[in-house]
Amino acid sequence: MLQALQNTILELIATGEPLKPTIDRLCAMVEDMVPDVVCSVLEVDSSGRLHPLSAPSLPAHYSEALEGLAIGPKVGSCGTAAFWGRTVIVTDIANDPLWEDYKALPLPLGLKACWSTPIFSQGVVIGTFGFYFRETRGPNDFENKIVAASTHLTAIALEREARVRERQRLAFTDSMTGLPNRACFNTRFNDMLAQPDQDWGLILVDLDNLKLVNDTFGHGAGDALIGAVASRITPIVGENRLFRLGGDEFAVIAPLDDSRGLGAAARAIGEALEAPCDCAGNLVHPSATMGGALIRPGQSSETIRQNADLALYHAKERAKGSFVTYQDGMGTAISERYRAIREVAAALSEQRIEAFYQPIINMKTGTVFGLEALCRMRNADGSITPAAAFHEATKDARVAAKLTRVMLDKVACDLARWSAMGLEGFHVGVNVSSADFHNGNLRGGLEEACARHGAARDRLVVEVTESVYLDQRDRAISDEIGRLRGDGVKVALDDFGTGFASLTHLMTIPVDAIKIDKTFTRGVTAHGPSRIITEGLIKIARRLGLTIIAEGVETVEQAEHYIQFGCALGQGFLYSKAVPFATATEMVRGRIVDAAQAALRA
Ligand code: C2E
Ligand code: CA
Ligand code: CA
Repeated sequence: MLQALQNTILELIATGEPLKPTIDRLCAMVEDMVPDVVCSVLEVDSSGRLHPLSAPSLPAHYSEALEGLAIGPKVGSCGTAAFWGRTVIVTDIANDPLWEDYKALPLPLGLKACWSTPIFSQGVVIGTFGFYFRETRGPNDFENKIVAASTHLTAIALEREARVRERQRLAFTDSMTGLPNRACFNTRFNDMLAQPDQDWGLILVDLDNLKLVNDTFGHGAGDALIGAVASRITPIVGENRLFRLGGDEFAVIAPLDDSRGLGAAARAIGEALEAPCDCAGNLVHPSATMGGALIRPGQSSETIRQNADLALYHAKERAKGSFVTYQDGMGTAISERYRAIREVAAALSEQRIEAFYQPIINMKTGTVFGLEALCRMRNADGSITPAAAFHEATKDARVAAKLTRVMLDKVACDLARWSAMGLEGFHVGVNVSSADFHNGNLRGGLEEACARHGAARDRLVVEVTESVYLDQRDRAISDEIGRLRGDGVKVALDDFGTGFASLTHLMTIPVDAIKIDKTFTRGVTAHGPSRIITEGLIKIARRLGLTIIAEGVETVEQAEHYIQFGCALGQGFLYSKAVPFATATEMVRGRIVDAAQAALRA
């Protein structure tokens, strides 16, 4: 009989059957072998607390009463056996002081005696094996043998379980930081989703400067940075809420216990990172860019992760160190951008990009003051797509650089053609993007294009939007603007008023002209802040000696207001949209825009 017990249980252990059913089976077999006894196996954790593992014949409330109970010198048979590390035999529960506090549990069930044997692993008590009798008695020889075999089998099963748990712990832990890792995150995340009544969100945290630190100071410093970041974020978000997904990527499962949303948590993380830290002897200022997503009922874990990823992508676009929460449509914005990038890249390689020109008019006289080159995409069916439709593509560094090269080439070519026709004395604006300042060789490209076609460089105006102009991360832009102006190229600050450029910035990075954004033009006729700002702006710009151009002039009224405020140069649909080379040539000759001036006088 004992042999059968051993064989069965050892086989269950060997085949990887989980702990609880294995011990349940053991107890059931033992209870079959010794009629009238009740088995109970308790685990003892490292802090000396009891956890019922198996007691197939005891009611649930019995085990629940024991859960978490601390072992001690007077804690029934099992708690006491575990405490002293030796067998405890109580032949009469009703009258034994060890059971004084606990006898109300077994007596109503008719259990009168209890014999408990500690289970050891490497000299430490890891559990107890208990035998309850329905009579006031102790064990007999046969029972002694069974219990010896059972404690041995239970010890084997518990040790195996401990090894499994340790392996799992290692598999779920990032070895560098000790944080729970990606695998753990996946499991925890799905567990959380299964509890729909909880309010929480996901924040992805992406370290900004890990690569730089690795490259500059070595991997030891990078590792130190990761460690420092882990230990700074953990106290902010709480234990087991921060996960290292890999490399410089962390995830935070953030509960929303108030209405402040994820932003508050992200801010707290950002602030915790702020202070410089010592990374292998180097002073590093940690910072992280973060994307967050709130959990809405019914969303899959993939959707939530993807949303947080999209938000992170947007945050990176906005600025290093920023935080963005996912909003509907973010995915569309990105796929829209990819569509635009693909289309423009195709148009560039198929030479379907053309330069159209919109005249800049002296609104007082109706004459053409200059032109702005605007790129247009010619489609397979011959239709023309304006730049606004694919503007997103200019944020892609490679496409933007190519586009600028193509446009510079076309504009230089057209300038040379106008010169050959004797049409001189006007400037042509070319739009450039941020990428042109960062990786492209704008100045060299411009010079090359002019040389190739024999065009004069000083007839070009480089139009830099306010956002590019303000991007002064590495002085690359202000330096390049300075050099361009040194070459005689004019520089205009485009879309003025849409961003945060102020007149103060004009002192640090001087330009030749500013172009007032069309949003101001819309408000220039009404009595409102737009008008007051515009009026003041024009006064100051004039005193600074800047050329000032109003964009998006669509009505005679707007033109009149601008003229009255002292801004005579305007550009907009009132005069002309962007037109092909031939039409632009006619305008420069002074034929077509007379009509616009007539409209103005009318
Ligand atoms: P932008 O530089 O501010 O160009 C002015 C835009 O306003 C043009 O749109 C023009 O057609 C439009 N516009 C002109 N007059 C009016 C008006 O009276 N009312 C309204 N509502 N709009 C008017 P477009 O050509 O679609 O260009 C959009 C933006 O795309 C440009 O804004 C510029 O930032 C960019 N872009 C255009 N061409 C190029 C280029 O060759 N290279 C680069 N990097 N960007 C370009
Ligand atoms: Ca422009
Ligand atoms: Ca503009």
